[in-house]
Amino acid sequence: MSYATSAARSAYRPRRAGGPGPIFGVVLRPQTYRNLLYHVASLPLGVFYFVFLVAGLATGVSSAVAWIGIPILLFMIAAWWGLASFERQLAIWWLGVEIRPMSRPRATGPGLFARFKAHLSNQVTWTSLVYLLVKFPLGVLSFALTVGLVGLTARLVSAPLAPLIDLASGLPLDPADLTVRLLWCALGLVVGLVSLHLLNGLAFVSGRFARLMLGLTDTAERLSQTEALAEREHAKAERADRSQRDLIVNASHELRTPVASIRGYAESLLLALDAQERAQPGTTASPPELRPYLGVIQREATRLGTLVDEILALARAEADDLRLDLAPVAAGEVVEEVYQTMAPLAKRERSITVVHEVAPDLPRVWADRQRFNQVLQNLVRNAIAYTPPGGIVSLTLDRVPGDDRHLALTVADTGAGIPPADLERIFERFYRADASRARASGGFGLGLAIVRDLVTKMGGTIEVESTVGVGSTFRVVLLVTA
Ligand code: ADP
Repeated sequence: MSYATSAARSAYRPRRAGGPGPIFGVVLRPQTYRNLLYHVASLPLGVFYFVFLVAGLATGVSSAVAWIGIPILLFMIAAWWGLASFERQLAIWWLGVEIRPMSRPRATGPGLFARFKAHLSNQVTWTSLVYLLVKFPLGVLSFALTVGLVGLTARLVSAPLAPLIDLASGLPLDPADLTVRLLWCALGLVVGLVSLHLLNGLAFVSGRFARLMLGLTDTAERLSQTEALAEREHAKAERADRSQRDLIVNASHELRTPVASIRGYAESLLLALDAQERAQPGTTASPPELRPYLGVIQREATRLGTLVDEILALARAEADDLRLDLAPVAAGEVVEEVYQTMAPLAKRERSITVVHEVAPDLPRVWADRQRFNQVLQNLVRNAIAYTPPGGIVSLTLDRVPGDDRHLALTVADTGAGIPPADLERIFERFYRADASRARASGGFGLGLAIVRDLVTKMGGTIEVESTVGVGSTFRVVLLVTA
């Protein structure tokens, strides 16, 4: 039902089919008397609202400087909202108007302060205050009109009563006087009818006014409905996002064990094959493809294991589940560890020389030691992977020139370099530069995304410079502790 039509139908209702007609029907309609009641009650209510609000708000505002005024003002805001709700209900009950809600409940309950802010920014909060204040003069007007017109009608209609009482008490009747009084009475009936129509019209206007001031406007209601919908959708999207992350974390977690088993069994079979060959050289009964096949299974299972670990780390970082144990760390020691682990391997398997240089007397940095080691290993592993045999990978740890609050760790290589177009994207998930994508083996493009997540969580930054055909330099800057 539309609010406009229902409001028009209430306080000033048109004739029902078969009824006494629009002119006289007004006398029989109960709504007419509810309207009268409303007009009469308007004066005491209006006076009360005016005195209470003006006194309360003036006290609150005048003592606001002395803090005591703040609770008074808060109380007054709540009180005028309560009074306005009562007025709205009264208009609905007595005038029969339909009024939109004063506010819309929110889908997710925000904090107390946010709710208070929303309350103050609600237009109805202020229009309802104006309504309560002007109820006083309007109440005086409608009370005076109602009492005046009803009084006049009663006076006129009761004009013939006096001679009739005289007649009943045996006094002579003056026919001319009676005729005049009967005419007064007839006039009184007309005045009464006109008054009822007039007061119904006034009730209609009062209803429209209450609807305008005590309910949300069309636009405000549509806006708040849209806001509530957006909030609900946002909450739904967050829930979906969370459950998707949970699924990824759980699935990756479950995948770890079978992938590790496949890798372990492939390695065991390769070892068994080695042992068999050592025991009876050249007499192995197994098919010749077995070794390369097992090699592929082992290699791919290792890749799969790395992918699962990386996905798990990323999902945890996104879910804010990645807890870093930040503490002062001697970064030079970590550089040394990684160098010791990776340099011999790089030399043996890729003929790449890894060199390192740590400046003396460096302060400690804020980091999670294990994660910092992981960051460094990742960068060095990439540098080795993307550098042709005979190349050099250098690790350097030093102060940032002109900045004693940070240390810089660089991993530089003499490798293929990264084209400018790829340079902007290599920290994205699953992004691999064209040249690396062509390679059958290697990572999945998650390593640098994890590195950046970890470095950021440690309060540091990472950047890269690269020239195709010359090499790349990754630079991690971390905060020193003192
Ligand atoms: P991946 O597992 O493919 O190495 P990363 O996220 O570690 O994934 O790296 C993303 C891409 O960045 C790589 O595929 C590669 O193209 C490029 N890249 C990373 N480090 C280097 C480097 N030192 N030299 C050249 N390219 C690199």
